[in-house]
Amino acid sequence: MHDTIDSSEIQGGHPLHVIIVGGGYAGLSALITLRKAAPDARITLIDPKPWHLIITRLHETLHSPLESIRISYKALAERFRFDHQQYAVDIDENRLKDWQDQRTIKIDTETLPFDFLLIATGASSSMPLRQPHLYDLTALTLNSGAEILERFVSNDGPEKTINLIGGGPTGIQFAFEIDHVLKAMHADFRLNVYDAHVKLLGQFPHALGDYVEQRMIGKRIAFMPEWHFENPADQTASLVHKQGERREIADSHLTLLLTGKKPKTLWHANSSGQVCLDKQTLTRIFTAGDCSHYDLMGSNSMTAQSALRKGRAAAKNILLQAGLTRFCLPYMHRDIGYVLSLGPSDAVGWVGNTGNIVKGVPAYLIKETTEMQYDLLLSGVDSYIG
Ligand SMILES: Cc1cc2nc3c(=O)[nH]c(=O)nc-3n(C[C@H](O)[C@H](O)[C@H](O)COP(=O)(O)OP(=O)(O)OC[C@H]3O[C@@H](n4cnc5c(N)ncnc54)[C@H](O)[C@@H]3O)c2cc1C
Repeated sequence: MHDTIDSSEIQGGHPLHVIIVGGGYAGLSALITLRKAAPDARITLIDPKPWHLIITRLHETLHSPLESIRISYKALAERFRFDHQQYAVDIDENRLKDWQDQRTIKIDTETLPFDFLLIATGASSSMPLRQPHLYDLTALTLNSGAEILERFVSNDGPEKTINLIGGGPTGIQFAFEIDHVLKAMHADFRLNVYDAHVKLLGQFPHALGDYVEQRMIGKRIAFMPEWHFENPADQTASLVHKQGERREIADSHLTLLLTGKKPKTLWHANSSGQVCLDKQTLTRIFTAGDCSHYDLMGSNSMTAQSALRKGRAAAKNILLQAGLTRFCLPYMHRDIGYVLSLGPSDAVGWVGNTGNIVKGVPAYLIKETTEMQYDLLLSGVDSYIG
């Protein structure tokens, strides 16, 4: 049960106005938390896209329409009552200081006043790369993966090659999904997964990488270790092996570049989510999600789970600062698991603690349940604990 509050009584007659920049996992989690606790609060969401992307399901668009992972902000705005401004905000330290002082943010020709501002702009992949038959993460959010694979299959030639660059969780999920879809289409293909490291998923417990590598052998997906992706400004992109061999990207029939995301700026925040610049705490400006690093013990992992919890923590602290609640714990979320899918009905990950490895169908069911929990949140049912 959530306590609801009439924010206008406390904000000197005007309802609380919160602006959220970035409508990803963190931004929406904050928005939903605020809306539930303060039904009369005014909320503005600024995001350049017309839709929220359920990015953790992106690999599924290799066989489902892109629309299946897009939810328009218009539909969400009707459900959770907010204004959506379609705009990419330019954020830097000086602007943040000005916004804190003036309690307004300028977008285009409009100046928007706020009581509190939340920065939740996430992380982005490297510079977009325009080359035939090459798709990076951004391109895969804009082009149908299913159509990309159909074109690949319909091109002439025996044993065509797909090179997938980046053997992190995203690359692995894509590799298994591609393998599944192309085998279902009886396509003749070779799938290579290139990674800069000697072992896959080195940042996770070793059992995860071992399981994935075994499964790849079973499916004849080739793991190509110790290959670095290079994209010098004046040359074409290529892969360079630790021992010096070079392979041109242009030679591949299809290349997926999934080398990860980085925030443009990582905003340092205290354990309430307020942005800290040098020694100054911006009391009215909060941050959450992949673009934030919180003090103290809470998880700063770049996962949907942490983004959701930080978003919620920031929203609760905004309510506290606004005088609408009296108590709020600092952000102390610890990750309770991480599972990646390996095609239909297989997955691997850890649950509870990193020594507790789950594999196969049970892991797949955990992954599906996690995704369903998020779908539920967006439909207005909050089943997250804490
Ligand atoms: C393909 C893929 C698969 C993943 N799978 C998993 C998984 O299975 N499990 C897991 O836990 N994590 C997964 N992650 C990580 C997880 O998705 C991220 O940690 C999470 O999305 C971070 O949430 P966020 O709100 O910080 O950022 P995002 O969800 O990226 O949202 C940021 C939002 O900000 C908007 N924005 C960006 N710049 C601006 C600007 N200048 N002005 C206004 N708005 C802006 C963007 O349009 C976007 O809507 C995956 C990531 C990817 C890319």
